[in-house]
Amino acid sequence: MSGAFETSTRRCDKAGCEEPGQYRAPKSPRNLEDFFWFCKEHVREYNLNWNYFQGQSEEEFQEFLDNATVWDRPTKPFGRAAQDQKWARHGIDDPLEILGANGTNPEVRAKMNLRKLPPTERKALEILEAKDSWTRAEIRKQYKSLVKDLHPDMNGGDRSDEDRLQEVVWAWDQIKESRSFRD
Ligand SMILES: [Zn+2]
Repeated sequence: MSGAFETSTRRCDKAGCEEPGQYRAPKSPRNLEDFFWFCKEHVREYNLNWNYFQGQSEEEFQEFLDNATVWDRPTKPFGRAAQDQKWARHGIDDPLEILGANGTNPEVRAKMNLRKLPPTERKALEILEAKDSWTRAEIRKQYKSLVKDLHPDMNGGDRSDEDRLQEVVWAWDQIKESRSFRD
């Protein structure tokens, strides 16, 4: 939990973050030798979660880490099945949302209009940048527009968005099949 390590050549350990990982944070209160490496923003986020777990058991903290998609990078290229399994295994929504100060406050949750959705569908909505209240048709529209933006055929063969595109396709698969949304 110290200052930046300017010499670090790592990338931030938060999934999807491309910033250099110059700030380290211990992986658990009982394992202070093993570190995650984060950018400034994400070490702050991590520390907030860490603080939340002060006063809770090591098991709970470990469970959080085991379940936290955010702290492990998706493997590249990720197989559809493996990814599904990974999210299913987590069994909870975005840990930052659930475990953060806001997420644990029922009033805030109510205000944010969060309803109970299966974790895969919650994740899918996040990926599609869609809202709970949207109809399937609205989400589909959003999906199509994202695919259009991300597809290599649509942006001169640039494949840099491929991972994101795969995620988006996965996400729409979840919504398409879901009974949680109005048509
Ligand atoms: Zn980061």
